[in-house]
Amino acid sequence: MSNRNIYTLPTLLIVAVMTMFASGCSTIDHNLTQEKGVKIKILDVSNSIYVSSANVHEKNNKVVISGFIKKTSPSSGRIRGHVDINVIDPDGKIIAEKTVLPYPGNSQPNARISRFSAFLDMTPPPGSVVLVAAHKGSHS
Ligand SMILES: [Zn+2]
Repeated sequence: MSNRNIYTLPTLLIVAVMTMFASGCSTIDHNLTQEKGVKIKILDVSNSIYVSSANVHEKNNKVVISGFIKKTSPSSGRIRGHVDINVIDPDGKIIAEKTVLPYPGNSQPNARISRFSAFLDMTPPPGSVVLVAAHKGSHS
């Protein structure tokens, strides 16, 4: 009888830890390009700024597209412009369109690199392509 009691506490601990892992699953960061076959394509549309890297993650059940913008020349002044994000499904339909401003803004006035991030309302299906382009000015 005493042997049984020895195993009770460790068993409860294992169950508790496993429950924590199971319920914490949604907070795990998923890289959609590696895990879900979503592709990223960076478009070169400006001769003064460009997207140097971008990725798609699913975190806390939200899809986040984030990356960096750089200047092509080492001129002073902060990076101006914005990032256009288009998500195209495997059938060629545009399923999401976002325009986001890079940050930081005024905190680093001479930054040659800026971050950007955008949230999507849905998870792109496998085979989707995320088009990312940075440029100055407005859309005409
Ligand atoms: Zn634009």
